[in-house]
Amino acid sequence: MVERVTELMDKPERIRNIGIVAHIDHGKTTLSDNLLAGAGMISEELAGKQLFMDSDEEEQVRGITIDASNVSMVHEYDGKEYLINMIDTPGHVDFGGDVTRAMRAVDGAVVVVDAVEGTMPQTETVLRQALKEGVRPVLFINKVDRLINELKVDEQEMQIRLGKVIDKVNKLIKGMNEKMYNEGWKLDAAKGTVAFGSALYNWAVSVPFMKKSGVSFKEVYQKCNAGEMKWLAKNSPLHAVLLDMVVKHLPNPIEAQDRRIHIIWHGDYNSSEGKAMINCDPNGPVCLMVTDISFDPHAGEVATGRLFSGTLRRGTECYIMGAAKRVNRIAQVGIFMGAERIEVDALPAGNIAAVTGLKDAIVGSTVTTLLEMTPFESLKHYSEPVMTVAVEAKNMKDLPKLVEVLRQVAKEDPTVQVSINEETGEHLISGMGELHLEIITGRIKRDKGVDIITSPPIVVYRETVTGRAGPVEGKSPNRHNRFYIELEPMDPAIVQLIQEGKVSMNQQAIERRDILAEAGMDKEEAKNVKAIEGTNMFIDMTKGIQYLNETMELVLEGWREALRGGPLADEQVQNLKVRLVDVKLHEDAIHRGPAQVIPAVRSAVKAGMLMAGDSLLEPTQKIQITVPSEQMGAATSQIQGRRGQVYDIQSDGDTMTIIGKAPVAELFGFAGDVRSATEGRAMWSTEFAGFELVPGGLVDEVVKGIRRRKGLKEQIPRPEDYLE
Ligand code: GDP
Repeated sequence: MVERVTELMDKPERIRNIGIVAHIDHGKTTLSDNLLAGAGMISEELAGKQLFMDSDEEEQVRGITIDASNVSMVHEYDGKEYLINMIDTPGHVDFGGDVTRAMRAVDGAVVVVDAVEGTMPQTETVLRQALKEGVRPVLFINKVDRLINELKVDEQEMQIRLGKVIDKVNKLIKGMNEKMYNEGWKLDAAKGTVAFGSALYNWAVSVPFMKKSGVSFKEVYQKCNAGEMKWLAKNSPLHAVLLDMVVKHLPNPIEAQDRRIHIIWHGDYNSSEGKAMINCDPNGPVCLMVTDISFDPHAGEVATGRLFSGTLRRGTECYIMGAAKRVNRIAQVGIFMGAERIEVDALPAGNIAAVTGLKDAIVGSTVTTLLEMTPFESLKHYSEPVMTVAVEAKNMKDLPKLVEVLRQVAKEDPTVQVSINEETGEHLISGMGELHLEIITGRIKRDKGVDIITSPPIVVYRETVTGRAGPVEGKSPNRHNRFYIELEPMDPAIVQLIQEGKVSMNQQAIERRDILAEAGMDKEEAKNVKAIEGTNMFIDMTKGIQYLNETMELVLEGWREALRGGPLADEQVQNLKVRLVDVKLHEDAIHRGPAQVIPAVRSAVKAGMLMAGDSLLEPTQKIQITVPSEQMGAATSQIQGRRGQVYDIQSDGDTMTIIGKAPVAELFGFAGDVRSATEGRAMWSTEFAGFELVPGGLVDEVVKGIRRRKGLKEQIPRPEDYLE
């Protein structure tokens, strides 16, 4: 098997890099296991019993997939062998960030949808992530056995139901990217981009497969109805049908990179690296994007990523692009097979690589043999940390170890933020939800062996301004330097462009200027953007001020410090536009150093925020609950009773789907409450839905609570407190 894999990895036209994406419980794990078993990667008896890809013990216990890990399989199609590199993706909405990075590494996605439940909110999220990365989808409608054996639908009704699922997914694709939809990404059962079946019972069918094998739809229906799953698994094997679909309809790395490089990289397409990546050239410079970091007890840190050009070899020296450019030497190059990493001598472009020795790389790093290279677009996370726990070492002597482990945790999972509360000295971990944090703290205790005490989770808030202020004067402590700034909320249209990655500091200044001006920003402003941090922007509107250029980095540092904690509650600032309108600098560099400039700018931003109406934002979650119609009232009141609003109710026969939104602060204990209110008959899911203003009547109380918890003075500062 190893030889076949290593032979194929040199033939990009025989490679497919894919991910399987699904809403939780729709059958992704079962499907992955049975594909591997079918391709001869694990014995068939073990598949389904042993969760092959779930190497993390935590996942076994909870039955959900947490870490993206890789496996490779060999599949024969039309007399030729193909190498399928499959990246596992998490099946829980709390880990949306992991799906984003897995999608960067692959070119195609198998979207799994439960035939009974239909598309769910996370189906939508993962599909959107795939399309944003230029990853082509095919559809597998799973659990068809349940339609027949539990819901007792007849043959015709089954066809209608399957058609409905396909229509719904097509509607989503069309809504997300009409261009791709029209260019042939529309799913079409007749063309073979849709398969359906049962991952659990190991069978699937597609229209092309039925034609080829002579098995008819009627036959499939009858065999399933009669419970003859063995017959189906033998005559319509899951792995054969699914992997045929993957080989036939998902692009190889050469086809995919030609299109995807234009989406995920915004450098010069005529440069040597631009051409090499577009052509998937193994002889070009090494251009690798790191999409995962894991820790191996023997090999140490393992960086997994997609190699878009060049060839990786032991001993190659690479630059890690980033703020501080570093040189790292590759120690080992490998590919994954199941949980095993197999070392190879050389790995060419188009593959997913596992590399050791890249000690300065983090998830999202661009690794190259070139001295200078435009980095890949940063990974966009559709969710943001919304909850925080404080942790402390049970034994004081473990403190240094805890600090190291927290650094690792943040490296492994970019959706986790680790910080220290300066006032109390507490270590804080912020994550995507209660479950996410439970898993991370559990892992610290068990895998990393550090005994910790964990506080109950608390909600993460944000600060922003609702009005304008300025010019505000910030004076340096020696009073020889003065900075004049104006503040206002960022235009929501521009916030969106930043969030979508269409405006960033990675792109060329002229391109950025044009996009901003087109979105309605003042031309002069659009030309003078100096920095973007989160969804905040710093614009330099001054002209010809001596020494400002050499002082600008310090000015930006002062601005960044203010963004890390606003004046109201020391929470991160977002959607703030700051314009620098005038500056007076001491002519002697000694008198305008960091200790002078940084506090002057920081104070001006904080004072200005208070003058511009500093407000508190809270995270909200979209909630979808599906219940039998007689439970509708109970389910609706579970949303409305939590400062929530219901904005859509859809009915499908006698089940109702209620869609609404509520603040995270009100959702503690939601799972248990919904269960008991609906006698356990509800299916529900939640998903991050952005930050919104805390209602006026609640602000005081919430701010007070946060300040007390953080050990801040109870009194909210006044602008004068910063400007003195
Ligand atoms: P994941 O969360 O998407 O990884 O879903 P799993 O693979 O863990 O499956 C969730 C549940 O659905 C498990 O209890 C599976 O046994 C069950 N399941 C998966 N596929 C099928 C299927 O085709 N038919 C039936 N009846 N159950 C299935």
